Amino acid sequence: MAVGYYLVPSQGAGHTVRIVGYCLASASTAVAVLVGVGCFRPAPRLPWLLLAASQLVYLIAGTALFPPYQAAGAAVGATRFPIFFNAFYLARYPLAVAGLVIFIRRRTPGRDLPGLLDAGTLAVAVAMLSWLGLIGPYVRGGSGRLVDAASLIGYPVMDIALLAVGLRLFLGPGRRSPACFLLMGNLFLIMTADTLYGLQQLGGTYRTGNFLDGMWLVANVTLGAAALHPTMTRLTAPAPAGEQNLGGVRLAVLLTAALAAPAMIMIEYARGVTHDIPVMAMACALMFLLTIARMAGLVCDQRRLAMVDSLTGLYTRRFLEAEMSSGLTRVRRGGGLLGLVIIDVDHFKEINDQHGHPGGDRVLAEIGARLRAATRPGDVLARYGGEEFALLASNIDLSELGALAERLRARVAGSPIALDANTLIFATVSVGACAFPTHVSSQGELVAMADGALYSAKARGRDRVVIAEIPRPTAAPAADGARDAGDAQKVRDPQGAVAESW
Ligand code: GH3
Ligand code: MG
Ligand code: MG
Repeated sequence: MAVGYYLVPSQGAGHTVRIVGYCLASASTAVAVLVGVGCFRPAPRLPWLLLAASQLVYLIAGTALFPPYQAAGAAVGATRFPIFFNAFYLARYPLAVAGLVIFIRRRTPGRDLPGLLDAGTLAVAVAMLSWLGLIGPYVRGGSGRLVDAASLIGYPVMDIALLAVGLRLFLGPGRRSPACFLLMGNLFLIMTADTLYGLQQLGGTYRTGNFLDGMWLVANVTLGAAALHPTMTRLTAPAPAGEQNLGGVRLAVLLTAALAAPAMIMIEYARGVTHDIPVMAMACALMFLLTIARMAGLVCDQRRLAMVDSLTGLYTRRFLEAEMSSGLTRVRRGGGLLGLVIIDVDHFKEINDQHGHPGGDRVLAEIGARLRAATRPGDVLARYGGEEFALLASNIDLSELGALAERLRARVAGSPIALDANTLIFATVSVGACAFPTHVSSQGELVAMADGALYSAKARGRDRVVIAEIPRPTAAPAADGARDAGDAQKVRDPQGAVAESW
């Protein structure tokens, strides 16, 4: 259709044929979007219907090219285009922006601050360039007539809005399917053609029916193709949760955008132009703020990664060790006990062997959730290693520590874990615990003693709790073998659960 458009002469009857072809192409895009919605039933349909509506108002605006309207426009003194039809041309943009915003909301149900900040940085850079190249010159040299303001300033402003949401969609998380690329192609072509149109109007070189019509036509076609591609339903599919990394390409684009304002200041300075300095200074300040916000977000992400285990959502070993160190200092100064409980899943290798690593991961996540549910507020529960967990308990006495350890054990063993509708896994844990300063006098000893108690629990048959034995100052150090089985004590907690000690 785009090729046929240029085969028809632009003079005389050919002009009307061209306009009819152009309007048919616009209409066919709206129809294509509706057919796509009917065939693939995206959920929700609203964003696609908004895109179809934007295409319909564009079609209405296109009819303004018919000679009778042109004559009427000239009669009321509109130099370029009847204002009424300009309103339809401009109405296309808010409808498309609303559709794209719904896509973004559906794809990123949570917050996606990095995507928002990156899109903001690029949009500020483009808005500044648009001001320097298009909007500023119009504002300074325009006729002051509403019709000119609407047609010449309206498009760059609308294009910036479209670009901001388009970038937000493209840079946000989620899969970029062929339909997504086609939609981006549509936005890119519209924005490029609009910008060239503005520059040609400014330079007085615009001629009706030039190559820009072809760009707008192909833009229509890409929107129709996006809606007719089976992957169109993926545009509203929520993005899988996960970290969004700051890749090399994205970093280079952001850097270029952030340097655009200082670069333009230097260029204008060299040309001796000063009237755009306030706008460029504002753009610099905005991009500086956006960059700082982005950096702060990255620092927070790194801190969270160092603190929180991604599989279980529990604290990391690194965080637990830092807490243990400050907990020991607190106890040394203020007295009391600091308890450490180490929990190891029994025969976890077999679970992995039978249900695969992903199945094992799901069991670990469920065990982590159960342990957390049995933990007192204020205590620090961490994933200590592969299938090992550790709990740091402050302000606790020995019998409470035994009860807590037993509660953790019972919560895991209490009910099977459902991997799926047909698979139940009976997981158990062995638990070792000790306290500072009752059992030990340093952080290294605390971990080693809890670990020793844990291995004693394993040696005695697993699925049990062992509390380390309080060393007797007068007695000679016990041999390892004696610790293992012979010296076991039973500690009865207030709820009646039994914990052994060694
Ligand atoms: P025991 O009762 O003696 O503790 O037996 P076990 O099989 O649990 O002990 P072992 O330490 O030999 O095996 C632990 C296994 O845990 C080995 C390793 O492949 C698995 N593992 C470690 N980290 C992960 C993980 O993140 N995901 C999964 N699925 N498996 C893990
Ligand atoms: Mg282990
Ligand atoms: Mg194990």
